[in-house]
Parts: sequence; C-alpha cells; structure tokens
Amino acid sequence: MFEYSPADNLLAQKTILITGAGDGIGRAVAIGFARHGATVILTGKTLSKLEAVYDEIEANSPGSAIIHPLDLMTGDEDAFKLLSESVDEQFPCLDGLIHNAAQLGPRSPIEHYPYKDWQQLVQVNVSAAFLLTRALLPALGRSPSGRILFTASSVGRQGRAYWGAYSITKFAVEGLMQVLADELANTTTIRVNSLNPGGTRTRMRAAAYPAENPGSVPSPESLLPVYLYLMGPLGDSFHGQALDARSFNP
Ligand code: NDP
Repeated sequence: MFEYSPADNLLAQKTILITGAGDGIGRAVAIGFARHGATVILTGKTLSKLEAVYDEIEANSPGSAIIHPLDLMTGDEDAFKLLSESVDEQFPCLDGLIHNAAQLGPRSPIEHYPYKDWQQLVQVNVSAAFLLTRALLPALGRSPSGRILFTASSVGRQGRAYWGAYSITKFAVEGLMQVLADELANTTTIRVNSLNPGGTRTRMRAAAYPAENPGSVPSPESLLPVYLYLMGPLGDSFHGQALDARSFNP
C-alpha cells in the first residue's frame, strides 16, 4: 500500500466536496481531508450519517465542514443548481470534487436484471455524476488547481458476469472522466482522473461479498495517503488517468 505522510496543512485553504460522505470510503476521506486543513462539503443521502461525520470533524477541526444533503437518486437539475449556488455563495471557488457515492444494485444475469435497478444505478452512478460535474465546473474553474476524482471499480475496467448495472455504470464513469479530461486539458488547470479504491471494508463490500471475513479487507482509512497525494500539489501531474489505489506508486 502507498505510504505518504504529508504535513497537517497539506490541504489548507482548499474546499473539497465529497459525495457519499456519510459512510465508508467517503466518510474516511472527508475526515482525513479536514484533518489536513481542507474545508469539506459533506453531501449524501442520510442526514444523520452526515451529521455524525460533521460532529467528528468539528471535534478535531472546528469550522472545517458543512453539510449539504443531496439524494442523487431524486435530485433533479434544480437540486444540483441549488448546490452550486450554495457553493458560490459560501466559497470563492471549489478546489476538489470527489465523486464517491454509488450504489451496488443486485448481482444478477443481464437476462434477469430488473429494469428498476438498472434505472436507479444509471441515475445515481452516472447521471448524477454528470449533473454534479456540470453544475460545479464554473466553481472548479475558479480554483488555481481544481481537481475532479471519479471513483472507479475493477468491474468497470473489465466486465464481470452478474455485476450488471454496477459494472456497466462504472465503465460509463471512466468514459465521463476521459471525455472531460480531454475537454479540459488545454483550456483549464482542472485535473480529472478516476481512482479504483480496490476491495475496502465498507457496507458495500460486505453486501457484495457476504461470506468474506471483513477483517481480511483493508480499511477505508488505509486509502487516505492516495487521496491526499492526488488532492495535494503533487497530484497536479495526473490527468485523464485511470488509477488504482492498491498499486499506486507515483
Ligand atoms: P458505501 O456503501 O459504504 O457508501 C456509499 C455512499 O454512497 C454512502 O455514503 C451512501 O449514502 C452514498 N449514496 C448511495 N446512494 C446515494 C444517493 N442516492 N444519494 C446520495 N448518496 C448516496 O460504499 P463504499 O464506501 O464502499 O463505496 C464508495 C465508492 O467506492 C463507490 O463509488 C464504490 O463503487 C467504490 N468502490 C468501493 C469498493 C469497496 O470495496 N468498498 C471497491 C471498488 C469501488 P447513505 O449511506 O446515506 O446511503
């Protein structure tokens, strides 16, 4: 696993929005970013989880977090516009956007895959990422070094039987990353990449691999060095890349 112990002020003056910040990887990343000086905008579906993360951050780094509940399933274009307006009102720019939230859906052969689940995963995993990116690009463009990080998966780089819409939407996320990176490469300083966290001990992992001993899977906190590196000044050298946290070695 990549080792990196930056100074506590690595992300000072930076404002970073994290989707799905109430649980799993998003929670660990939000707490870790705040501990390294960032102001974090916590978005997610379940308010009580966001409040728990907020309280944890407040205890160590007062004033470093704000909450903006946003259900990526039901949020329409106006909801994303409202979020971008709220960011614009409170901050001069946005320095980072971590597209972390996603849903797993059922494991089922395509022949029997329920259309309702297909639609839900396309909405949460892809359409919401598109809408959120589009709404926040102006604020990211005002940052001297804006960063967008999409969350990838092994099954979004090589299709796997029975992973259905999860696998397919993660392929789409890679496509969104590539198109956006190409568009922004020469006209902005925004850096866009995707990161596959690899197997990580979360609620989603437990749902995908119910027979697995959770103790054998790395914790969400173990990913923090990679996320910090990519959001800090050294992360500038990455653009348009499909990265892997478990083999990250810049
Ligand atoms: P968790 O299930 O632990 O967390 C997912 C987060 O997404 C939760 O905070 C959840 O909020 C949020 N979320 C789900 N649906 C919505 C919605 N409709 N609106 C807003 N937020 C929503 O998963 P992980 O932490 O494991 O996953 C994080 C990312 O990492 C995902 O993109 C996943 O695909 C990816 N990944 C994870 C791997 C792993 O082994 N854990 C491996 C490879 C990729 P709430 O809790 O309120 O429902």
